[in-house]
Amino acid sequence: MLETKIYLDNAATTKVSDNVLNAMLPYLKDGYGNPSSIYTLGRNAAIAMEEARSKVAKALGCDATEIYFTSGGSESDNWAIKSTAHMMAAKGKKHLITSAFEHHAVLHTMQALEKEGFEVTYLPVYENGIVHPEDVEKAIREDTALVTIMYANNEIGTIQPIPEIGLICKDKGVIFHTDAVQAVGNVHINVKEQNIDMLSLSGHKIHAQKGVGVLYVNKKYRLSPLIDGGAQERGRRAGTENIPGIVGLGVAITDACANVDAKNAKLKPMQDRIINEIMKIERTHLNGDRERRMASNLNFSFEGVEGESLLLQLDLQGIAASSGSACTSGSLDPSHVLLSIGLPHEVAHGSLRISMSEYTTDEEIDKLLEVLPGIVQKLRSMSPLWEHIIKGETFKIK
Ligand SMILES: *Cc1c(COP(=O)(O)O)cnc(C)c1O
Repeated sequence: MLETKIYLDNAATTKVSDNVLNAMLPYLKDGYGNPSSIYTLGRNAAIAMEEARSKVAKALGCDATEIYFTSGGSESDNWAIKSTAHMMAAKGKKHLITSAFEHHAVLHTMQALEKEGFEVTYLPVYENGIVHPEDVEKAIREDTALVTIMYANNEIGTIQPIPEIGLICKDKGVIFHTDAVQAVGNVHINVKEQNIDMLSLSGHKIHAQKGVGVLYVNKKYRLSPLIDGGAQERGRRAGTENIPGIVGLGVAITDACANVDAKNAKLKPMQDRIINEIMKIERTHLNGDRERRMASNLNFSFEGVEGESLLLQLDLQGIAASSGSACTSGSLDPSHVLLSIGLPHEVAHGSLRISMSEYTTDEEIDKLLEVLPGIVQKLRSMSPLWEHIIKGETFKIK
């Protein structure tokens, strides 16, 4: 049987770390109390949850009372954006600002709000995949309710000038949310120093389990609930809390934030090595800024290659990677992220995302670099498109 031996798709999800698993196990077994119950078993669960909340708050540089546990990044994004939009609409502000290459949890939420009559400005991200703070400043109007810009892009790994954008929003008195799902553990985050009013993060991208996440909300704001029901999360988010997941997330974010520098020091040389080798393949493009990107992320386009075929060939070698976003694979539309940085459809289709973690080894990268050039060559030799490309008969890109 084929198996995945080399996991290079950490932007899609990550394995649960031993630290996280060990912290969770007691709450999956004997510590199963409902934190709303008043007897000891319940109170113990509540105490564990509040400890996890303090850990998250410490990692982000805020108060524990500003942390809300959710079911993940998608819920946090939906909640922050929808509730802020409705809160501000009541004050006559119905304009929202975001970027063209946000995660679908943000973009589809914006589309839903457009149907309700909100107006949305989608800022460009240019060829290198970076939002310009001046564009944010220019886009802000009297009736702007919210600016939401992701901290780091999930497909091409580019890091956005979040502190600068936060400062502009603060000066203009506009609420600022960031989807930091990919950034946590890769970038130093401090919500107060960086003028962030709301921030989304997700457990399963930082070695905690799937189905648990966080929304940080500055205590100046009181968001209406997205999920109604019980009085959990100080009446803001109903539903019996996912205690094992929350406890694991507390450990995961502590580890992730303590290891940012060590992780980058380890991954940067690996990233450089991959870029140097892969860019030797003709008609290959590195997507996203060369420098202003997370050390864990690489995204290439190979002209004349079909991304899906590339993934299948890598899978045969036991290597898991991704083409565009995992959420969109299965659809034939090219990634909106790659289109937003100006790639033609044909080139966007031939993209490969490699996303590493602190567990990635040099030997794994050796293996990738050993097989990838041959796979690209083989697929091109079978592609009718490639003939046209090398004769210069098709699309042009710089
Ligand atoms: C994965 C991801 C999400 C969604 O998080 P879930 O916990 O899977 O719902 C949102 N935004 C970004 C940038 C992501 O990478």
